[in-house]
Amino acid sequence: MSQPGSPDNPLRVAIIGAGPSGFYAADQILKDETTHAQVDLFDRLPTPYGLVRGGVAPDHPKIKSVTRMYERTAAKEGFRFFGNVEVGRDLGIVDFENHYHAVMYTFGAEADRELGIPGEDLPGSFAATAFVGWYNAHPDYADRNFNLDRAKRAVVIGNGNVAMDVARMLALDDAELRKTDIADHAIDVLDASTIEEIVVLGRRGPAQAAYTNPEVKELGELEEADVIVDPSEIELDPVSQAYIEGDEVDKTTRVNVEIVRGFAAKAHESKPKRVVLRFLASPIEIRGGDRVKSIVIGRNELVDDDGTLRARDTGEREELECDLILRSVGYTGIPIDGVPFDEKRGTILNEHGRVLEEHGGEHRTGHYTAGWIKRGPSGVIGTNKKDAQETVNHLLEDVAAGKLIDPSSPAPDSIETLLKDRGTHYVSFSGWEKIDAEEVGRGEPHGRPRVKFVRVDEMLEHASSDDK
Ligand code: NAP
Repeated sequence: MSQPGSPDNPLRVAIIGAGPSGFYAADQILKDETTHAQVDLFDRLPTPYGLVRGGVAPDHPKIKSVTRMYERTAAKEGFRFFGNVEVGRDLGIVDFENHYHAVMYTFGAEADRELGIPGEDLPGSFAATAFVGWYNAHPDYADRNFNLDRAKRAVVIGNGNVAMDVARMLALDDAELRKTDIADHAIDVLDASTIEEIVVLGRRGPAQAAYTNPEVKELGELEEADVIVDPSEIELDPVSQAYIEGDEVDKTTRVNVEIVRGFAAKAHESKPKRVVLRFLASPIEIRGGDRVKSIVIGRNELVDDDGTLRARDTGEREELECDLILRSVGYTGIPIDGVPFDEKRGTILNEHGRVLEEHGGEHRTGHYTAGWIKRGPSGVIGTNKKDAQETVNHLLEDVAAGKLIDPSSPAPDSIETLLKDRGTHYVSFSGWEKIDAEEVGRGEPHGRPRVKFVRVDEMLEHASSDDK
């Protein structure tokens, strides 16, 4: 048989994880017509789009409209979607090696990073990932129980965009929520919420915050909540001050500082809720008996560590009563069997997208990675386009050099036969389109973009029967 990537031996690529990086990579591979590529995009859920569906906040519909581009990719010749196929449960790495010339891992960073402080696991202390998954109707989090009907104060730990999202979701009023595609179960719980104050803890200062300008600005536009900042906590240290005033300043940082200073200077309007932004404040211990009762906060100062300003504990403590804690200090990847993993970084071991056998070792022929599981959980959705392109360029170089897997069963229908033999009820893109149409139809009478299915069983029921 001729080289893979020729008309009688089309390049066959499996991509695992149908979030943004999976779709960008699929699109870029299919765009290169010289390889006659066929791309099969797998996801463990029956639904595509990863964090665009399960992570982006319900009140940010514009961000979600990026799925139109992914729909265009899905309509391209050579593209197939296999939803509800889980690596480890339905297919192993060896199955991909038997059916494809190349495998690309784009399954993101699903786990939450831990704080490593006492009381972190008390009832009432949750990873923000669980709260986000729950309000976004992710099947993994459908049965989580967030009792907010007696809670008065929530503490959000972290100063990234996820912290902004969860703080805002706790502060939005019922009418704002009811216009969105938020999970039905979350509307009722958030509607019954008695939370009056949401405290967001940043361990460094406003010039080091990880959130971006629109996300922090949006807090000031909430109908039901004032934003409170203590001016003494945002006085900049000399290094940050010089940076903000200097020519090298990045615009996001300067505007973040301006926005937070604006909050500190603004008179409060006595709205029913308060979002309190704290800085130089680290979680030290979470206290309570059968559930969270308070958090001990340590006051930090900033110290220059080889050009980076880091938080150092001053030893000063305060204890703040609270009923709910959302730990929002970033995500980390989960390893899959048979794929080399960098435990320290929480990513697949790779060099610019080519999977490595070991640190500093050889490339694993035909194995690639893109997105958060390649570089860690950073950037916005669009960042994954450039990231995927780097990996796809390497894949195409390897196609030209003939450095690919030599599969025993490359015929496109053989993977379908295998899945059917194993009793896997996989969902094609047209199956997803049926789920999609049903969800959109359920939303229409209520003026909502969609009412999401929460259970995998319900999703499978609405996917086409010919997907079985
Ligand atoms: P992130 O941007 O990495 O922020 C994590 C935050 O946690 C940082 O403020 C970090 O502070 C803090 N942190 C880490 N360890 C801590 C500890 N032990 N104690 C206290 N604070 C600690 O992570 P993320 O918010 O999960 O967001 C992940 C990615 O998704 C980001 O790229 C984000 O921009 C993106 N995202 C974007 C949007 C949007 O565009 N609207 C929405 C959601 C998420 P230090 O800086 O001091 O380490």
